[in-house]
Amino acid sequence: MKRIAVLTSGGDSPGMNAAIRAVVRKGIHEGLEVYGVYQGYAGLMEGKMKKLELGSVGDIIHRGGTILYSARSEEFKKDESQYKAIKQLKELRIEGLVVIGGDGSYRGAAKLSEKGFPCVGLPGTIDNDIPGTDYTIGYDTALNTVINCIDKIRDTATSHDRTFIIEVMGRHAGDIALFSGLAVGAESIIIPEKKYEIQDIVAKLKKGIERGKKHSIIVLAEGVCSAGELAAELLNNYQLETRISVLGHIQRGGTPTCFDRVLASRLGARAIELLLEGKSGRAIGMQKQEIVDHDIIEILKKRDPIQEGVYTLSKELSI
Ligand code: ADP
Repeated sequence: MKRIAVLTSGGDSPGMNAAIRAVVRKGIHEGLEVYGVYQGYAGLMEGKMKKLELGSVGDIIHRGGTILYSARSEEFKKDESQYKAIKQLKELRIEGLVVIGGDGSYRGAAKLSEKGFPCVGLPGTIDNDIPGTDYTIGYDTALNTVINCIDKIRDTATSHDRTFIIEVMGRHAGDIALFSGLAVGAESIIIPEKKYEIQDIVAKLKKGIERGKKHSIIVLAEGVCSAGELAAELLNNYQLETRISVLGHIQRGGTPTCFDRVLASRLGARAIELLLEGKSGRAIGMQKQEIVDHDIIEILKKRDPIQEGVYTLSKELSI
C-alpha cells in the first residue's frame, strides 16, 4: 500500500483535527502518501481530494472542527454513488480510506468495504454512542463544555431561586446528560434510555422547596423531549415555573481536551497500522485503556447500554 485518504463525515466533534493529524503524520512516518478528502462523502464522490504534507496538519491539534470540513450526503447512500466514490479513489491510485465520523459515517465505510475498497472507521462524535469503544473522539470535550455552561447557569439559578431545565445533545444516547448531570450535581437527569415519571421530578422539586432550596438543575437529553415541552408540562400541570436553556451547537465546538487529543492521536495512528496490515471494515476504539478494533458491521448492529451504576449513583447523590 502506497497511498491512502482520510475524510471526516457527519456531525463534527472536537478532536477530529487531532485524528486527521495522527493519520497524516503516522502515514507519512510509515512511508505512505496521505490524501485529504474535503466535505466527507459528498466531496469524495466529486473527487475533492488533495495530498496532505506534514505541514498541512501543523497547528491543528488544538483546534475544534475539522480542516477537511464535514458534510452529509443522502446521495451517497445509493450503491451507484458508492461505486462513483471508489472510482474517484482508484483514479488517484488510493488504496485505503480512513473515515472519521459517527454511526452514519460508519455505515458508509461499511458499504465501501463491502464493495472491496479497504476502509477503517474512527469514532468521531460527541455523543459517545458508538459501540466497541468506551469513548468517542469529542465526547470528553463536549462534557467539559456542558459542565462549564451549567456551572454558570447554576450561579444565576442560585441568585434568583430558579429551576433551570438544561437541554443537552443526545438523541438516542444519554451519556452527555448523565455524566454532565452527575458532574454538576443536577437534581434530576432525564435520558432516553430510562423512562421518566414527571411525578418524580415534581416530587423532587417540591421536596427541595420544602426544605428551603428553591433552585434546581434538571439536565435533559434532547432525545426525550424539548426543554420547552417539559417546562410547559411542569407549569401547566403542576404550577412549577422553570427557565430553560438549550445548549445546542456550542457542545460541538471548542478546543479539544487533553483526553480527546490523546485518544484521537492513538486511534488515528492505529488506523494506519490496520490498513498496512491489510485489514478492512474495522471500527477502531479504546476499551479499558487498550486500543482495539472490531468488525464495523457487527458494531453497527449493537448499542452499548447506559452505565447503570452511574445512573443509580446520580439518583443517590441528588436526594
Ligand atoms: P454521523 O456520521 O455523525 O452519524 P450521519 O448519520 O448524518 O452522521 O451520516 C453521515 C453520512 O454518512 C451521511 O450523510 C451519508 O452520506 C453516510 N451514510 C449514512 N448512512 C449510510 C448508509 N446506510 N449507507 C451509506 N452511507 C451512509
